[in-house]
Amino acid sequence: MFDRRVFNFAPGPATLPEEVLKQAADEMLNWNGLGMGVMEVSHRGKPFMACYEETLSDLRELMNIPDSYAVLFLQGGAIGENAAIPMNLMPLAKNGPKADFVVTGIWGEKSVKEAAKYGQAHVAASSANTGFTSIPDQKNWQLSDDAAYVHICSNETVGGVEFQQVPKVSKPLVADVSSNILSRVFDINDFGVLFGGAQKNIGPAGLSIVIVRKDLLGHAMPITPMVWDWAKQAESDSMLNTPPTYSIYLAGLVFKWLKRQGGVAAMEKQNIAKSNLLYSTIDSSGLFASKVDESCRSRMNVTFYLKDEKLNEAFVEGAAKQGLMNIKGHKSVGGMRASIYNAMPMAGVQALVEYMKEFERGC
Ligand SMILES: *Cc1c(COP(=O)(O)O)cnc(C)c1O
Repeated sequence: MFDRRVFNFAPGPATLPEEVLKQAADEMLNWNGLGMGVMEVSHRGKPFMACYEETLSDLRELMNIPDSYAVLFLQGGAIGENAAIPMNLMPLAKNGPKADFVVTGIWGEKSVKEAAKYGQAHVAASSANTGFTSIPDQKNWQLSDDAAYVHICSNETVGGVEFQQVPKVSKPLVADVSSNILSRVFDINDFGVLFGGAQKNIGPAGLSIVIVRKDLLGHAMPITPMVWDWAKQAESDSMLNTPPTYSIYLAGLVFKWLKRQGGVAAMEKQNIAKSNLLYSTIDSSGLFASKVDESCRSRMNVTFYLKDEKLNEAFVEGAAKQGLMNIKGHKSVGGMRASIYNAMPMAGVQALVEYMKEFERGC
């Protein structure tokens, strides 16, 4: 039991900026003097439409999204998009529905499995042989001539593996950016599609964001559910069905908060500083270690392990006592994982590092 906020290192849903939560709490019962909360008003009414438009334009500004790209606010999460993407894009392939995948972790594996229901999901490269601790050298990717697109996961949330450069490919690049969107500067022109759920680095669960180059729209398979037909959603302000209004509102508050922090470039600087502090602590320790190749260590999800596994439980319990929560790694990887998204302050990482040093001294 805590009478204060803890540092929450959960991978998603994840910590949100305190300022944002306070504002949302203040406005919960009476938003904009309407005498009603944002959750209680029509999605087509003027007040919500204004909130939607502003949220959209703030995201466009933060990510510098060109007019040649549509931005969709959908539902179904990144996992839903794993089906929507092949349905919308695979028909662009010249010899029947097909796409290439570069698999660097379990989210990439899931994307392949889902896409295979709709066409050929060709694994052009995979780092499964290293236990997903690396990114295959692009020289060895076996890309197909007849694929509609190349799919990557820009940050594998479970393994803690992140592309440090966006690969250049001749086909549209489709990237699952669920866990590193807005954490670093992307050049949108490098992508055909960026997609992700909001609950890692943006806001509450329930909102998925798709940023798609407009020339890729309009090719969906006839079986595509209407709500996942990107062209139809793009024509309808993502309102073919009732959108997740509260999640969009909260994402909007986070975008304002990001702008006050100085935008994505400022967050990137801070994310480099936060992750460097944690990795240098791990590397200089006798007790902790990282399995991930230095060239692709994630700035968002720092995975590490204790060389003496018997100490795992004591480490996690001791951390929780100090209000350092949810640092246990995913069961498929083991060890520890500290998720340090934009909303995790440097003070949280410093507190974790202090605790790690203290724990090691006590061993
Ligand atoms: C969390 C996560 C997902 C799953 O997202 P849902 O919103 O639960 O569908 C997919 N990909 C990545 C990279 C993730 O981090």
